[in-house]
Amino acid sequence: MEFKVSLDDIKKLAGPVIFDRGNNYYLDDHIHSTFKMGSFIKAGCVGSEGYSYFVEVFFGISEHNKAIITETRCSCPYWATCKHVVAVLLTWHHKPSSFRNIEELAQYLSGQKKDWLISFIMELGQKDLSIVERLYEKMDGIARSNHTWYVNIDLDDDDDEE
Ligand SMILES: [Zn+2]
Repeated sequence: MEFKVSLDDIKKLAGPVIFDRGNNYYLDDHIHSTFKMGSFIKAGCVGSEGYSYFVEVFFGISEHNKAIITETRCSCPYWATCKHVVAVLLTWHHKPSSFRNIEELAQYLSGQKKDWLISFIMELGQKDLSIVERLYEKMDGIARSNHTWYVNIDLDDDDDEE
Protein backbone atom coordinates (compact mmCIF):
# COMPACT_ATOMS: atom_id res chain seq x y z
CA MET A 1 0.00 0.00 0.00
CA GLU A 2 1.45 3.31 -1.03
CA PHE A 3 -0.66 5.51 1.31
CA LYS A 4 -1.25 8.26 -1.20
CA VAL A 5 -2.58 11.55 0.16
CA SER A 6 -4.36 14.14 -1.96
CA LEU A 7 -3.89 17.89 -1.74
CA ASP A 8 -7.50 18.09 -0.51
CA ASP A 9 -6.71 15.67 2.32
CA ILE A 10 -3.81 17.86 3.42
CA LYS A 11 -5.88 21.05 3.14
CA LYS A 12 -8.69 19.51 5.16
CA LEU A 13 -6.26 18.43 7.84
CA ALA A 14 -4.50 21.77 8.26
CA GLY A 15 -6.90 24.45 7.04
CA PRO A 16 -6.08 26.95 4.29
CA VAL A 17 -3.79 29.28 6.26
CA ILE A 18 -1.46 26.58 7.65
CA PHE A 19 -1.63 24.79 4.30
CA ASP A 20 -0.22 27.88 2.54
CA ARG A 21 2.57 28.29 5.11
CA GLY A 22 3.46 24.61 4.78
CA ASN A 23 3.37 24.90 1.01
CA ASN A 24 5.91 27.75 1.17
CA TYR A 25 8.16 25.54 3.31
CA TYR A 26 7.76 22.75 0.79
CA LEU A 27 8.58 25.04 -2.12
CA ASP A 28 11.59 26.49 -0.27
CA ASP A 29 13.05 23.01 0.38
CA HIS A 30 12.74 22.96 4.17
CA ILE A 31 12.26 19.19 4.23
CA HIS A 32 15.16 16.78 4.73
CA SER A 33 15.91 13.30 6.09
CA THR A 34 12.83 11.68 4.57
CA PHE A 35 12.18 8.05 5.51
CA LYS A 36 9.38 5.57 5.07
CA MET A 37 8.99 2.94 7.77
CA GLY A 38 6.14 0.54 7.03
CA SER A 39 2.92 2.49 7.48
CA PHE A 40 4.48 5.74 8.61
CA ILE A 41 6.85 8.38 7.34
CA LYS A 42 9.39 10.51 9.19
CA ALA A 43 11.19 13.63 8.12
CA GLY A 44 12.95 16.74 9.37
CA CYS A 45 11.69 20.24 8.64
CA VAL A 46 13.85 23.31 9.09
CA GLY A 47 11.86 25.89 11.06
CA SER A 48 12.00 29.68 10.94
CA GLU A 49 14.87 29.80 13.48
CA GLY A 50 17.03 27.52 11.35
CA TYR A 51 16.87 24.31 13.40
CA SER A 52 14.91 21.22 12.53
CA TYR A 53 11.67 19.83 13.86
CA PHE A 54 10.91 16.11 13.64
CA VAL A 55 7.70 15.13 11.92
CA GLU A 56 5.95 11.76 11.87
CA VAL A 57 2.83 10.86 9.91
CA PHE A 58 0.99 7.59 10.47
CA PHE A 59 -1.25 6.02 7.84
CA GLY A 60 -4.05 3.51 7.96
CA ILE A 61 -6.71 2.02 5.74
CA SER A 62 -10.31 3.22 5.91
CA GLU A 63 -13.39 0.98 5.76
CA HIS A 64 -13.57 1.82 2.06
CA ASN A 65 -10.01 0.59 1.53
CA LYS A 66 -8.64 4.09 1.10
CA ALA A 67 -5.37 5.32 2.60
CA ILE A 68 -6.01 7.71 5.48
CA ILE A 69 -3.84 9.73 7.83
CA THR A 70 -4.42 8.37 11.33
CA GLU A 71 -2.02 10.57 13.30
CA THR A 72 0.52 13.33 12.80
CA ARG A 73 3.23 14.44 15.21
CA CYS A 74 5.73 17.27 15.22
CA SER A 75 8.30 18.26 17.82
CA CYS A 76 7.35 21.94 17.52
CA PRO A 77 5.16 23.52 20.22
CA TYR A 78 2.14 24.23 18.02
CA TRP A 79 -1.03 22.52 19.32
CA ALA A 80 -2.62 21.50 16.02
CA THR A 81 -1.54 20.33 12.57
CA CYS A 82 1.41 22.62 11.84
CA LYS A 83 3.11 23.89 8.70
CA HIS A 84 5.96 21.39 9.24
CA VAL A 85 3.55 18.46 8.96
CA VAL A 86 1.99 20.07 5.88
CA ALA A 87 5.41 20.53 4.24
CA VAL A 88 6.25 16.85 4.89
CA LEU A 89 2.88 15.71 3.52
CA LEU A 90 3.33 17.86 0.41
CA THR A 91 6.75 16.31 -0.13
CA TRP A 92 5.13 12.88 0.27
CA HIS A 93 2.40 13.88 -2.21
CA HIS A 94 4.69 15.36 -4.88
CA LYS A 95 7.90 13.34 -4.44
CA PRO A 96 7.18 10.02 -2.69
CA SER A 97 10.35 8.52 -4.16
CA SER A 98 12.46 11.00 -2.14
CA PHE A 99 11.50 8.99 0.99
CA ARG A 100 13.96 6.16 1.56
CA ASN A 101 12.35 2.92 2.61
CA ILE A 102 14.22 1.71 5.68
CA GLU A 103 13.51 -1.92 4.83
CA GLU A 104 16.57 -1.61 2.61
CA LEU A 105 18.60 -1.03 5.79
CA ALA A 106 17.72 -4.47 7.15
CA GLN A 107 19.06 -5.93 3.96
CA TYR A 108 22.24 -3.87 4.22
CA LEU A 109 22.78 -4.81 7.88
CA SER A 110 22.23 -8.50 7.19
CA GLY A 111 25.30 -8.35 4.93
CA GLN A 112 27.58 -6.86 7.62
CA LYS A 113 30.02 -8.76 9.85
CA LYS A 114 29.11 -9.32 13.52
CA ASP A 115 32.18 -7.40 14.77
CA TRP A 116 31.24 -4.39 12.69
CA LEU A 117 27.65 -4.49 14.02
CA ILE A 118 28.85 -4.69 17.65
CA SER A 119 31.24 -1.79 17.33
CA PHE A 120 28.59 0.26 15.54
CA ILE A 121 25.96 -0.36 18.25
CA MET A 122 28.53 0.49 20.97
CA GLU A 123 29.29 3.71 19.14
CA LEU A 124 25.56 4.56 19.00
CA GLY A 125 25.28 3.84 22.73
CA GLN A 126 28.02 6.33 23.51
CA LYS A 127 25.94 9.02 21.87
CA ASP A 128 22.49 8.01 23.11
CA LEU A 129 21.79 6.86 26.67
CA SER A 130 18.41 5.38 25.70
CA ILE A 131 20.18 2.80 23.53
CA VAL A 132 22.45 1.77 26.43
CA GLU A 133 19.40 1.44 28.66
CA ARG A 134 17.54 -0.70 26.13
CA LEU A 135 20.57 -2.95 25.70
CA TYR A 136 20.96 -3.42 29.48
CA GLU A 137 17.27 -4.31 29.67
CA LYS A 138 17.85 -6.97 27.02
CA MET A 139 20.98 -8.22 28.80
CA ASP A 140 19.27 -8.39 32.19
CA GLY A 141 16.10 -9.90 30.69
CA ILE A 142 13.90 -7.12 31.97
CA ALA A 143 10.83 -6.13 30.02
CA ARG A 144 11.21 -2.76 28.43
CA SER A 145 10.51 0.08 30.82
CA ASN A 146 7.89 2.67 30.12
CA HIS A 147 10.39 5.46 29.75
CA THR A 148 9.81 7.43 26.63
CA TRP A 149 12.69 9.42 25.29
CA TYR A 150 11.93 12.49 23.33
CA VAL A 151 14.41 14.32 21.21
CA ASN A 152 13.28 17.87 21.63
CA ILE A 153 15.60 20.27 19.96
CA ASP A 154 14.15 23.35 21.49
CA LEU A 155 12.10 22.89 24.66
CA ASP A 156 12.43 26.45 25.86
CA ASP A 157 11.61 28.09 22.62
CA ASP A 158 8.65 30.38 22.85
CA ASP A 159 8.43 31.58 19.33
CA ASP A 160 5.19 31.10 17.52
CA GLU A 161 5.92 28.25 15.17
CA GLU A 162 2.77 27.01 13.62
ZN1 LIG B 1 5.56 21.58 13.68
